[in-house]
Order: sequence, then C-alpha cells, then structure tokens
Amino acid sequence: MKTRPSELDCALRAVAEACSVTRRVQCDLDQIRQLTKDDRSPVTVADFAAQAIVAMRLNDELGPVSLVGEESAADLRESAAGDVTQAITEAVRHVRTAVTDDDVLDAIDLGNHDASDARYWTLDPVDGTKGFLRRGQYAVSLALIENGIVKLGVLGCTNLSADFTRAFDDPDPVGCIYYASVGDGAWYLPANDIGVTAAATNAATEISLDALRVCESVEAAHSKQDDTARIIEFLKATSKPARLDSQCKYAVVARGQADAYLRLPTRAGYVEKIWDHAAGKLVAEEAGVTVTDIFGRALDFSKGATLSANEGVVCAAPAVHGRIVEAIDALGITE
Ligand code: AMP
Ligand code: MG
Repeated sequence: MKTRPSELDCALRAVAEACSVTRRVQCDLDQIRQLTKDDRSPVTVADFAAQAIVAMRLNDELGPVSLVGEESAADLRESAAGDVTQAITEAVRHVRTAVTDDDVLDAIDLGNHDASDARYWTLDPVDGTKGFLRRGQYAVSLALIENGIVKLGVLGCTNLSADFTRAFDDPDPVGCIYYASVGDGAWYLPANDIGVTAAATNAATEISLDALRVCESVEAAHSKQDDTARIIEFLKATSKPARLDSQCKYAVVARGQADAYLRLPTRAGYVEKIWDHAAGKLVAEEAGVTVTDIFGRALDFSKGATLSANEGVVCAAPAVHGRIVEAIDALGITE
C-alpha cells in the first residue's frame, strides 16, 4: 500500500475520531436534550467535542498548528454553560478517557486562529448542524490551506452510506470518509476503519442532460431552491434535485452519485466561510469535478476566513459545468 504523508495520516485519524464521537452524541440526542433542557444542545456538544478532538490530535502529532475552527470556547467558560461543558467532556472521553473540562476548553481554543498565517488548518467540526439534529447528513470537515491553496482535505461523512441506493435521510451505521491532497486524486475509506486500503473516487463521466442529477441544501435559507428549479428547466432536464445537508454534497458529486451540487445565493451580502468548502472542494476537484462560484470563478481561499471574492458555488462534472454557468448567466441569477 502506498504510504500516506504523515500530515494526511494525522488528519485522517483526527476526523475518524471526531466521526466516532459525533456518532455517539447523535445516539444520546434525547438524553442530552433532557439534561440541558435545550433542544439544540446536542449539536453544540458534538460541535465542541469534535473540535477538541481534532485540535488535540493535530497538536499531539504535529506540534503547535494554526487552526481556524468554527467554534470558540469563550461562551462555555461562563459558569451557566456548566452542564453543556460536562456533556462535551463526557463525549470527548469516548476517545480520550482521561481528559478534564479544562483540557477540553483549552483544546477548543486551539482553533481560534484568524487565518492570517500563510499556512493553517481549517475545521468545521459539524458542518450541517440542521442535518445533525434531524439525524440526516452532516460532515466533519478538515483542510490544510497554504498560500491560499487548499492542499489537503478530509471529509468525514458519518451518516453517508457507501451504498448509493440508501436514502440520504437514512443514517448509515458505518459512514464514509473522503480525502484528497493536491494532485493525488480523491479517495474513500469506511469511517469506522481507516486502516483498510483506500479506494479511488471518481466523478461521473457519462451524463444525460435530460436526467441531470443535481443536489442542493435541505435548508431553503442556504441555497435558492427556486433558482435550482429554473436552471433545471432551462437545461430542459426533467429531474428533481436531491436534498441533503452539509459538505456531503461535494462527496456525492465526487463519487459520481450526482452530476452537480448547486449553492445559489439567497441574499445579498452573505459570504461563504472557508471551513464550509475547503475540504469538499478539494475532494471534488481531485475526483475530476469542476468547482467554481456562480460566475465561473475559481473559489479564492486567499482572502482569510471567508470566500469574499466569490458568490455561491457550482460544483459539477466538467461535461455539464459550463452549461450550468451559462444557464445562470442567461437567467440573470445573482445575489
Ligand atoms: P448546508 O448544509 O449545505 O445547507 O450548509 C450549511 C452551512 O450553511 C452552514 O455551515 C452555514 O455556515 C451556512 N450558511 C448559513 N447561512 C447561509 C446563507 N444565508 N447562505 C449560504 N450558506 C449559509
Ligand atoms: Mg458549516
């Protein structure tokens, strides 16, 4: 088996551990809700626990790293958040048995970097929080960015099945991890065993425009679903888009299960965050997919923590990418 660079190996271990912990929290959803008397608290617990686990793993194996994480421990340090902090520590103990609350809070804060370095990691510990809460799809998303280029990406899709016939709202007991480093293709591993030989992942090549397979957000607030329907109609396709939460959409296109993932702006002024795209876009590109914004511009990761030079996302197999961007232009779809 080809040896993997140690940074990639470490990132895979970090994401696999985070997947196993978020899965445990998802099993205890109702119990955590009862304990904290808060409906959204399970995702808070999963989010913080996953960030702590990834930060600890990177820090232990690679030494101090710059990590731009979505979460910060500031609120948790206030005493009112005590129950939640305890639940987070309990969750982290599934993979790190001896940690204390303070260890966990300190680890979360390792993710406070502001993306000002030339080289940093970025993490969305639970991308697709709504999907997590509805026991649908969510992703642990970790990427390494160097001089504005995404060099490495690991996407933990804990509830996504390797079996394409399984419905997206039917959580898989194994899950999938997709990963890529620049120039080295995209790869799949089962989320519960990263020790096995990885399988190459490739985008669809034979595409029927009539039956174009598009995917988009479940949340209408995150992508303008009416515009997706207009694009499909403009292209004279007859298909209905599949809806799923999180960067799992990038994985679904990367593995040829869908031809395109569209993220169409819902309101002027929203800027996409790097942790919502970095890992997914590299996995998709390395699988042979074209990823741009709605105007056909490359996603620009040199602007700090946001994609401020871009609007929306068109992630599509090369055979249809140009047609979709043309349709967007012809229909006058912008912010
Ligand atoms: P998805 O699961 O693909 O619907 O995307 C989830 C992500 O959408 C979250 O991580 C948020 O950062 C992001 N998000 C929040 N508000 C918006 C918005 N108005 N437009 C696009 N994305 C958003
Ligand atoms: Mg996110």
